[in-house]
Order: sequence, then C-alpha cells, then structure tokens
Amino acid sequence: MSEHPLCRALQEAVGNSIPEIQHAFDAYQRECFIERPSEFFALELNGEAGELANIEKKRWKGAPIDEAHRADEAADVFISLMNFCNAAGIDLGTAVVKKLGRIPRSRE
Ligand SMILES: [Mg+2]
Repeated sequence: MSEHPLCRALQEAVGNSIPEIQHAFDAYQRECFIERPSEFFALELNGEAGELANIEKKRWKGAPIDEAHRADEAADVFISLMNFCNAAGIDLGTAVVKKLGRIPRSRE
C-alpha cells in the first residue's frame, strides 16, 4: 500500500470493488457470449480505444461531438478491458493496486 493517504484510499476502493465487477463481467460473458481468446479482446480493446480517441481528436479540433457517444465509447473501452482481463486471467484489482503504488506522483 502507498504511504500517501489518498493513494491508499484509492487502492482500498479498487481492491474492494474491482474484483466483484470483474467477476460479474466474467459470469455474464460466460453465460451470454461465445468464448473468445484474450487476443480477440486485446484487439477489441484497441479498436474501442481508437474509436474514443477519434472522438477526442474531433472534439480537440473544435468539431461538435455527441457527448452520449463519447460516454458510450468510454464504456466500450471499460467493457473490453474487463473481458480482456478475464480471458487473460489477469486479476485487474490486484494489478491496479500494485501499479498505483509504483506510479510517481507529479505534484511531489
Ligand atoms: Mg465502440
């Protein structure tokens, strides 16, 4: 755990909630969708991240964007990440908790 109180609180929140969310995604995926390898979900994740990035690029250039579409693409990224981690056997909660402890803070 981090020595920074806010980082420690974040780590505790992640450790307490992500496993339940990830397991629920796994159960839903197994019940309702055909099995896919982690490589499929890695490609899907990158495709969805690209869709989100394209919307952000348009927004950055001043084009009007549909905020609901933007949120929808962010959701696609999250869903794809969950499915990738489940297919790859990655415990995302544990991985995020560990990683948060190693990311240097830019305000210190
Ligand atoms: Mg999408």
